[in-house]
Amino acid sequence: MIPLAGPIVTDSQKKAVLRVLESGHFILGENVSEFEKDFAAYHDCKYGIGVSSGTSALNLSMLALDIKSGDEVITVPNTFIATANAIAFSGAKPVFVDIDEKTFNMNPELLSEKITSKTKAIVPVHLNGYPAEMKPIMEIANDAGIPVVEDCCQAHGAKCYDQSVGSFGKIACFSFYPSKNLTVCGDGGMAITNDESLERKLKAIRNYGQDRRYHHLFIGHNSRLSEISAAIGREQLKDLPIWTNARRKNANLYNKLLSRSNLMLPKEASWARPVYHYYVVRSDARDKLVSHLSSKQIGVGIHYPIPIHLQPAYEFLGHKKGDFPITEACADSIISLPSHPKMTETDVRTVCDAILELEG
Ligand SMILES: *Cc1c(COP(=O)(O)O)cnc(C)c1O
Repeated sequence: MIPLAGPIVTDSQKKAVLRVLESGHFILGENVSEFEKDFAAYHDCKYGIGVSSGTSALNLSMLALDIKSGDEVITVPNTFIATANAIAFSGAKPVFVDIDEKTFNMNPELLSEKITSKTKAIVPVHLNGYPAEMKPIMEIANDAGIPVVEDCCQAHGAKCYDQSVGSFGKIACFSFYPSKNLTVCGDGGMAITNDESLERKLKAIRNYGQDRRYHHLFIGHNSRLSEISAAIGREQLKDLPIWTNARRKNANLYNKLLSRSNLMLPKEASWARPVYHYYVVRSDARDKLVSHLSSKQIGVGIHYPIPIHLQPAYEFLGHKKGDFPITEACADSIISLPSHPKMTETDVRTVCDAILELEG
C-alpha cells in the first residue's frame, strides 16, 4: 500500500513533546517563539505568528488588514475552500480569477480586469507546492496599491525566482495539518510577515486581542499554536530541506518514467522551484485511472473536484458553469499522485507501472 500523504514522526519529535510535558509550560512559550523565528527566517521573513491552523492564519490576515463588509478580495476558484471562506467570513466578497493551466495557479494576465475600487487584497495560492507567478502578480498589486496575502498552505519552502514563497506579499499563511509538507501532527499554522505593525496586530488578534495581559486593543480570537505543536514543528523544520529534496526527486522520477504516457505532466518553469505537495497530472480518463490506482492500494486524490464558484456554499455569488473554464477543465482531469518523502524509488516505479499498464 502506498498512501497519498505520509507524515514522518521521528524520535526527536517524540522527545521534544516529552520535554514540553515535563516543563509544565503549554501556551506561548519558548517553543512557539523559536519556531516562529526559525520558520519565518526559512521563508526570508522577519516575523512569524504561530496560530491554530492555516484557516486561522487566513482569517486573522483578513482581520489584520481591516477587510470588511463591502470590500472585495481576489483569489482563485481552484483552491481549498478555506481560502475563500476566510474572505467570506471577513464580510468581503470573494472575486475569482481563473488559473493558468501551466501552474494550476492564478493567471496574472487575467488579474488586472478583476481589480475595482473595492478590491482590498489579492490572495494568490501556491497550490500543490507549485509557486504562483509572483513577479507579475506583485507588479499589478503594487501598481494598484493593494496588499497581497499569499496562501502558502501547500508550499512550505517553495521558491519563485530564487526567493521564498511567503516573502512576496504583506502576509503569508501556512498550514501544519498532518498531510502538509511540514506538520505539527495535528492542527496548526503560521502567518509570516516583514511588517512589524502587522506582526503586533496578528499576535494580539490570535490572543483575545490583547497586547498585554487584560488590555485588549482589538476584538480578538483564541487562535494560538500550542507549545507541544510548536515543539514538533521545530523538529520537523530541521528535516524539511531533506524532505523537500525527496519530493523533488520523486517528481523527477515521475517525469522520466511517465514521459511517454498519455498524461499531461507538470513542467517546472525556469522561475519555479516547486515542492510537490502532490505530483499532479491531467488525464482524459481521470475517473478510470483513479479507480485503477485505488484498486492497487495506491493513494490518489483530486485537488479539487468541485471548483469553489460551483460549490453550494458560494451559490450566493451567482456564478455558473463556464465562468472559469480553465479551473473547470482541470477539476475534471486532474489527479494527485503521492510524492511524499516516505516514498521509495520502488514506490514511484510501482505507481508508474500501474498507470502505464492501464494505458496498455
Ligand atoms: C490546508 C489548506 C488550508 C487550510 O489549512 P488548515 O490548517 O487545514 O486550516 C488553506 N488553504 C490551502 C490551499 C490549503 O491546502
